[in-house]
Amino acid sequence: MSKNGIIFGKFYPLHIGHVDFIQRASGFVDNLYIFVCSDNERDKKLFEESKMKKMPTIKDRIRFVEKTFKHQKNIKVIHMAEDGIPFYPNGWKLWSERVQEILSTNNFRNMKLDGLAKVLQNETILPELMRKDNFLTLPNFEKSFNKNLEIKVIDVKRNNFHISATEIRKNPYENWFFIPKYVREFFVLKVAIIGSEHSGKTNLTHKLANYYNTTYVKEYKKEYVKEELQNKIENLQYDDYSNIAYEHNRRILKSIKNADKLTFIDTDFYSLQTFSIIQNEEKHPVIEDFVKHTNFDVLIYIEKESNIQNTTNNYNKMSKFDNILQSLLKKNNQKFMKLSYKDSISLTENYIKSIDIINNYLKTK
Ligand code: NAD
Repeated sequence: MSKNGIIFGKFYPLHIGHVDFIQRASGFVDNLYIFVCSDNERDKKLFEESKMKKMPTIKDRIRFVEKTFKHQKNIKVIHMAEDGIPFYPNGWKLWSERVQEILSTNNFRNMKLDGLAKVLQNETILPELMRKDNFLTLPNFEKSFNKNLEIKVIDVKRNNFHISATEIRKNPYENWFFIPKYVREFFVLKVAIIGSEHSGKTNLTHKLANYYNTTYVKEYKKEYVKEELQNKIENLQYDDYSNIAYEHNRRILKSIKNADKLTFIDTDFYSLQTFSIIQNEEKHPVIEDFVKHTNFDVLIYIEKESNIQNTTNNYNKMSKFDNILQSLLKKNNQKFMKLSYKDSISLTENYIKSIDIINNYLKTK
């Protein structure tokens, strides 16, 4: 007969302390079930009290645990909705019954629970409450629980990783070390550097990625024009825009996976749409979809001062780009920080200003 255990938690979010606790506990049983508990009202409140920039959904929280333990086949993840159940102590009976309800569903039909794993320090729930006697009083106890249900206490003082999910919610970026790889992806901030050609975007993107020691995404349109169109931008046509948008997006997602707190992106989808409007005289629907569904945390827009343009042609082209881009941003109520480019001195000025902008953003909610 295999031995089964459970760990309960909100995992809001999962941190390295939880991971270590779960991995140690998994050694005591053949199957360890991680119950990821949710309560919409409580979880919303926890988010409002936090400094997190966006709220993880319950599916995000389940995914954090599933991805982290994807190669440990004896660790299984179960969702437990606690909505409507009062907090401990008033909710204890209802809560225990909900646990039992889950245990009597298909997943668990032929299995009995042998162990509960618990870390004790700073717990809202008294250890005695987790003792088998409390579960023994439940009407269907025989069906779901082993009579010798064991309570295993692990890392009582949280000595291995002294961290709590509350501290992470208060400041994820200062507690980055404690955030597991697959949870980091959720917290990575996307900073896009946008503006017309020759405004110093690429230069600024590289410098910021170096400064924050993290990943960046090059402007894919440039690469595409070079590789597919022998550098002749005038040969870019309507259909090319969706290829560019999809690939640029794919590279952003990849960059997030390896980033350290931030990732920097040379050119966003508003800029790509601006090019499409100039060249095709219409918005491209695929790019529009990306505009609507891609949220950049910080947009740094470098406006090129037009008086440095020396040929009339160039001057007109650049002005049109900036006008369209700005009107798109405003129409969509998209916030952006504006910097300007005049000459090569602007490169350093914009670098220093951008660091200030980003550091401030990291500190605030
Ligand atoms: P949590 O996500 O904060 O922690 C999950 C587990 O990891 C806990 O056992 C915790 O002690 C352990 N842990 C946390 N930090 C650790 C660290 N640094 N090192 C090692 N281990 C660490 O979740 P939680 O707040 O304990 O969640 C318990 C869940 O059970 C809640 O959803 C709660 O509502 C529910 N519950 C409800 C009742 C009720 O009566 N309504 C009763 C019991 C449990």
